Amino acid sequence: MEDLIKLLPDNVANQIAAGEVIQRPASVVKELLENAIDASADKIDVNIKDAGKTLIQVVDNGSGMGASDATLCFKRHATSKVRTADDLFSLTTKGFRGEALASISAIAHVEMKTCMQSENVGQSVLVEGGEIIKQEEVVCPAGTSFEVKNLFYNVPARRNFLKKDSTEFKHIQDEFERIALAHPNLHLTLTHNGNQIYNLPQAILRKRIVNILGNNSNNRLVPIEESTDIVELKGFVLKPEHARKTRGEQFFFVNDRYFRSSYFHHAVNKAFEGLLKNSSHPGYFLYLTVDTNKIDVNVHPTKTEIKFEEEKFIYSILLSSIKQALGMYNIAPTLEFERESSFDIPHSMHSQPTVEPTIHVDTAYNPFKTTAKTTSNSSGRNAENFTKAITNQGFGSEKAKAEDWQKFYTIEEETERNAEPIIELDNDASNVSSFIVKNNYIISPSKSGLMLINAKRAIEQIVYTDISNSFISNPIESQALLFPIEKEVSKNERLLWEENRKILAQLGFNGTLEKDTLKINAVPSVLQEESISSSIDEIFKTIAFQEIGKGDIAHSLILSIAKAASMKKINLSTNESIQGLIDQLFQCENHAYSPSNKKIIETLSLEEIHHKFS
Ligand code: ADP
Ligand code: MG
Repeated sequence: MEDLIKLLPDNVANQIAAGEVIQRPASVVKELLENAIDASADKIDVNIKDAGKTLIQVVDNGSGMGASDATLCFKRHATSKVRTADDLFSLTTKGFRGEALASISAIAHVEMKTCMQSENVGQSVLVEGGEIIKQEEVVCPAGTSFEVKNLFYNVPARRNFLKKDSTEFKHIQDEFERIALAHPNLHLTLTHNGNQIYNLPQAILRKRIVNILGNNSNNRLVPIEESTDIVELKGFVLKPEHARKTRGEQFFFVNDRYFRSSYFHHAVNKAFEGLLKNSSHPGYFLYLTVDTNKIDVNVHPTKTEIKFEEEKFIYSILLSSIKQALGMYNIAPTLEFERESSFDIPHSMHSQPTVEPTIHVDTAYNPFKTTAKTTSNSSGRNAENFTKAITNQGFGSEKAKAEDWQKFYTIEEETERNAEPIIELDNDASNVSSFIVKNNYIISPSKSGLMLINAKRAIEQIVYTDISNSFISNPIESQALLFPIEKEVSKNERLLWEENRKILAQLGFNGTLEKDTLKINAVPSVLQEESISSSIDEIFKTIAFQEIGKGDIAHSLILSIAKAASMKKINLSTNESIQGLIDQLFQCENHAYSPSNKKIIETLSLEEIHHKFS
């Protein structure tokens, strides 16, 4: 008798499998974006025609592929990301199944151009219905570009199943937003039928969320932060009064991957209990970081459901930290700052061509790449002036002129960086009397109420801004130590010090290496004697970590110095010194948040004060 069981030909097997991974154009967008991120791209452009039915193009500036990988990548189970089953439990990449490209090319016409960063010539590959039609050398930019056309051309049932363009594009936009929220450090654009829907430059998380929700959303965000051995939680929830009738703004991420979880959703809902109007849904953007071996992402083909080993614990952490944050917010609500309403881009406008918000400050701007300064209001002060102010005379040694107050404290639309609150102070500075409580909290009257400033964080921001703006052209003031500090260093630390000697010198550190000892002769004068040793440890940690992450060493070093400087004993005994500090803080482009993204200013409106006595 003839054998009945036959192995399916590859192209049929691929088509069947494609049904699982690729349900609609949005699935293609998601897979291609994830591949670009896995290839370490930091700029990705998505270009869509007719909700993806005609064209889905994703262009990245990532690693690119060599000639043989350029065809191998279309084979099922072809992946560069997993080698053994154990790897599945230590995933750091988005993809790992090696299925997406095989699936997409089984049901569409795909043209890929790819060029490795180190090569001059790249590859162009044409694939239709899973068959490689053409491969040739081309000259193309480094990175990879995918063009997916005629999706489901050979699966008519699927094609007919697609919804109208507006619905399919909404799905694409949702996938795009999830990726954008998970990766604020990437520059992403989305274009539909020639209209740019999103142009999201690299930004800090809060700014990225505001860019997606619309500018007036900054005041709606309540920060959430909790760190335990099992899970690190950060992110934001929307204040209860901004909860929506529809469940739109609800995002969970784990290790930078979007996921859904009705269980965790329940925790958030519970935290909001009693605070929401009937049938409205809380908004949240919550980011979990857990050990990769404590989760399983391989339980669902599109990887949007994830198994957590410690889900009960995470549930209770979510519940308690959100509850706490909402409670704090209830006790000390923030002032709704007066804003230009034309500045706000409502979420509902996203389907229309939008004009980029007129934000003049580029958050991707890196002060260490060029010596140019931002277009900001940071005045021509340099680190030397500042260090003098902070080390010798304390704040306020250069008394603020009235017009400076005017300049920095009136509403300036262009100082929109991080969409920080904009505060109007009394115009006549000389009338203002401020107080300091617990040697850290400054209470200062403003036109619209009271302003509370965390002085340590303010100092951190001032030092950070000052050094960042000037250290390249103007090495920061260094203070020779009367008794050099000796530190035993490992071979690795020795190397790290030598490799970074130049930048360390520019930042005010001077040391000599003798065998296994580092003798520190001079340090930035913003540092206090007793914090020097711990700062050096911090610096080694920073450099070693950055080596691996290839991040911006200067930025991280300045951050550590600013942190150490803020630990210094504060001398704010006179009204003048307090005003001096406030003045300097407001000269910082970003005065609302510290460089480590902690809130510096809190406000209490007159209305709120009245309310407290009603
Ligand atoms: P997976 O991502 O699960 O490994 P895919 O089918 O999505 O499977 O991709 C297969 C392989 O093709 C990847 O492992 C990667 O090596 C390569 N690849 C895909 N897209 C890109 C890209 N944009 N840039 C560089 N390499 C890519
Ligand atoms: Mg992939």
